[in-house]
Amino acid sequence: QPLIGILALQGDVREHARAIEACGARVVGVRRPGELADLDGLVLPGGESTTIDKLTRIFGLREPLVERIHGGLPVYGSCAGMILLANDIADPARDMDGNPQQTLGGLDITVRRNAFGRQVDSFETELQFSALARAGEADEPVHAVFIRAPWVERVGGAVEVLASVELPPDGQNARIEPEVRAVAVRSQHLLATSFHPEVTGERRIHELFIRMIRGEA
Ligand code: GLN
Repeated sequence: QPLIGILALQGDVREHARAIEACGARVVGVRRPGELADLDGLVLPGGESTTIDKLTRIFGLREPLVERIHGGLPVYGSCAGMILLANDIADPARDMDGNPQQTLGGLDITVRRNAFGRQVDSFETELQFSALARAGEADEPVHAVFIRAPWVERVGGAVEVLASVELPPDGQNARIEPEVRAVAVRSQHLLATSFHPEVTGERRIHELFIRMIRGEA
């Protein structure tokens, strides 16, 4: 079984561990550079991207993480984890000196943090998610939980959009075309979702990630 690390500096590490174990893979928390060595895959959990960003530098993990991600290690990021995988943030948080938060990068996308917040802080919805159906099975929608979630505002050419959310009308600009935002993307060995499959008992996203690690998806 593949060994999957979860970056265990802050965030919903235990929920991801449970989901990965339920899929039959082995799991280990990552807090030190040396713990990256044996991994077949890595999860960047949901949490607070600014905090995780700071802690990766304090723990000496930033450079080794960037190296492994760019070296082809399969990585799945949920919510804050998606922000950390993005090459660009539309509205990065800044520290007291005005320095913007950093990402690890790898995914050619631009994310906007807390993007749905203008409408509503947190919400749940059913999502059509391509790439989940196994042969001969119908594509059951994913029950997706968004918690101060980012959305994807730009996707690069090599990035595949796996799921999108239709924005509710904002009551001011009557729209003719419905506005949609990508909330699940994949680019080669990197997978990211704005929402948290780890908190709902949904296992198919983690299964997809494990199939990616095995080279089966
Ligand atoms: N808003 C958080 C951030 O910017 C992400 C929230 C989450 O992971 N649920 O990091």
